[in-house]
Amino acid sequence: MNPLIRFIPAFLVRYFASPYVAGDSLQKAMAVVEKLHRERGLLSTLDLLAEDIRTDAQAQQNLDTYLRMVEAAARLPAAMRPTLSLKPSSYTTQPFQHGGDAAGSREAMRTIAQAAAAKGVALTIDMESRHWTDFTLDVLREFCGQGMTHVGTVLQTRLHRTEADLDKLPKGLRVRLVIGIYREPGEVALTEKPAMKDRMLAYAEKLLRAGHYVEFASHDDAYVRRFVEQVVPKVGVGKDRFEVQMLYGVPRERFLADLRRQGIAARLYVPFALGWDMAIQYLRRRLDEYPAMVWLVTKNMFSRK
Ligand SMILES: Cc1cc2nc3c(=O)[nH]c(=O)nc-3n(C[C@H](O)[C@H](O)[C@H](O)COP(=O)(O)OP(=O)(O)OC[C@H]3O[C@@H](n4cnc5c(N)ncnc54)[C@H](O)[C@@H]3O)c2cc1C
Repeated sequence: MNPLIRFIPAFLVRYFASPYVAGDSLQKAMAVVEKLHRERGLLSTLDLLAEDIRTDAQAQQNLDTYLRMVEAAARLPAAMRPTLSLKPSSYTTQPFQHGGDAAGSREAMRTIAQAAAAKGVALTIDMESRHWTDFTLDVLREFCGQGMTHVGTVLQTRLHRTEADLDKLPKGLRVRLVIGIYREPGEVALTEKPAMKDRMLAYAEKLLRAGHYVEFASHDDAYVRRFVEQVVPKVGVGKDRFEVQMLYGVPRERFLADLRRQGIAARLYVPFALGWDMAIQYLRRRLDEYPAMVWLVTKNMFSRK
């Protein structure tokens, strides 16, 4: 990790993090989910900040918390029920990027997926670094093959492999399309954001034409507009075939309100932690992966659009 980021004092990290984290308990996160829907008509996808775990006890705690999240989500009426986003690395002490085999991850996700199916709660398997792509898509195909059609996933347009992955998806999938937050080497990925975003438009069109549900996840207003105003009408699908997603805390109030006025579904990614320690670790890692965030956060404190 960049030493500058490692040595930012925790109180400062927390200061930067607070707008992006819905709280330090499931109860607080659920209150945010309800408020977003009641006051702004926004949907949520709820995420526990729980990557980079070190012990089996942590893996078990993450599994138990996701089962509690399923119960909490299911208690809300269907119209405002959050989906759950989960990361395969949250349930294993053997991550692929350190040469491991992700032992326990598939089984934990299956337990959560089965509980969620029983309660009518949709799941999205987040996409982590390139070391996880094959595993994640394999788990997804296995679950969909077993009729678990409430499970969707994420594709990262920066990866060159994604174009081929698009053709191998289970039918009628819910796909979140992102540029990808993990820094990947030039041999396997694009390194320029505009090219990644151009791919978002092209891949969104391809996904819609293939009959998938597209979750267009970006804060770049211009690209979101091009998706909504050009790609969607070109393919000729209705508003029931896509939604726009952004991260909780990124200031896009007016833009999201405008989408809602047009009857377009918009969903925020709402992370919470079990204690600020976890949130601070997460934000440090995110800052390291994406140092521009320091400047974005600072800039956004002064301009809310
Ligand atoms: C709902 C959602 C789920 C995601 N899930 C995944 C995933 O599973 N795997 C994965 O690899 N990536 C995921 N991402 C991250 C994604 O890949 C991008 O890294 C992220 O969205 C930034 O790209 P952008 O398209 O918003 O464009 P950018 O050019 O990065 O951002 C556009 C503008 O938005 C503002 N902005 C963007 N990010 C922030 C921020 N954090 N704080 C303040 N302002 C900001 C800035 O003003 C910036 O100029 C997700 C993103 C979203 C919105």
